[in-house]
Amino acid sequence: MKDSHGRVIDYLRISLTDRCNFRCIYCMPEEGVQQLPHEEILRIEEIVQAVRVAADMGIRSIRLTGGEPLVRLGVVDLVRDIANVPGIENISMTTNGVLLPRMADDLKTAGLSRVNISLDTLDPDQFRQITRRGELQQTLDGIDAALEAGFNPVKINAVAVRSLHQDYLKFAELSIDRPLHVRFIEYMPVGESSGTDGCGWGKQDVVSCEELFDTINEQARAQGLPELVAAGEGRPLGWGPARYFMFPGAQGTVGFISPLSRHFCGECNRLRLTADGKLRPCLFSDNEYNLRAALREGDEETQRAVFAEALRAKPDDHHDRVGTERGMSQIGG
Ligand code: SAM
Ligand code: SF4
Repeated sequence: MKDSHGRVIDYLRISLTDRCNFRCIYCMPEEGVQQLPHEEILRIEEIVQAVRVAADMGIRSIRLTGGEPLVRLGVVDLVRDIANVPGIENISMTTNGVLLPRMADDLKTAGLSRVNISLDTLDPDQFRQITRRGELQQTLDGIDAALEAGFNPVKINAVAVRSLHQDYLKFAELSIDRPLHVRFIEYMPVGESSGTDGCGWGKQDVVSCEELFDTINEQARAQGLPELVAAGEGRPLGWGPARYFMFPGAQGTVGFISPLSRHFCGECNRLRLTADGKLRPCLFSDNEYNLRAALREGDEETQRAVFAEALRAKPDDHHDRVGTERGMSQIGG
């Protein structure tokens, strides 16, 4: 499946829910977002049908996200059903990790291939400040559970926000003793950019990956520790748009994802499906295509036509757009 700019599109990110057990300051306002009515959310069997059509058209990788995908009832059954769709080669998930101690084994058995766990700090107070209702230990237990269940790779996603003054070196060092792949992500202007909805994005809060890389190496030098070197073959599977480095001899890697300072739109291989069944060609564009209507009222031909339309509308680049109508938890980050 190719878009009109010649890019091969083989990756579909699916938001399973707009609900979440956290309220991260860069993602949601304290009171949460206006929740989608229950009947507007895709049912499990509708998601599976969407994946069947997508796989038939060339999608090979699925990522489940949200909101928090693990609060969605039936998520283990969904993973099993997707794993049985011919053509799907891997299923991954992005989660805050809180429910992994309970669910990691079942998810692995059901066919989940890999997990990305979101964690931005190792300081318990700062963790409470960022998530507004989480405890650091819960996510750390989630990471342990993912490793124990045998997920490989286990990636840790950290959003760098300047005003939070996170300790980048300490964070990167998570990759040394265990096979964890720590990835720093530039803070993206998704959702309202005014700051009134809790997302509060401002240019001054963006830390470019180049600066992150330099800061980590400077701090390492100052402490007499080795600096990051290119990871080469050590980089984890499903490396996507990240650039990977590692501390010499470390078990894991340190990756940098720079949607702002280095657009990777030219390599973009994805479509997104929102929890209410809209196909979204680009995270940064509010153009959406109603797959839900086609799933509920149309036949498979109509469903394929919606995918084709979304594909045709995929923009070449996000052109530094600031702000989107829906926030990250609604689009599926
Ligand atoms: N709840 C799950 C989690 O937190 O992993 C999945 C959904 S969350 C929206 C997906 C990812 O988006 C998380 O890693 C989160 O840190 C990231 N994210 C949310 N808002 C962001 C923003 N404005 N810029 C960059 N990343 C963001
Ligand atoms: Fe929830 Fe993930 Fe958004 Fe945090 S980043 S509020 S965990 S959806």
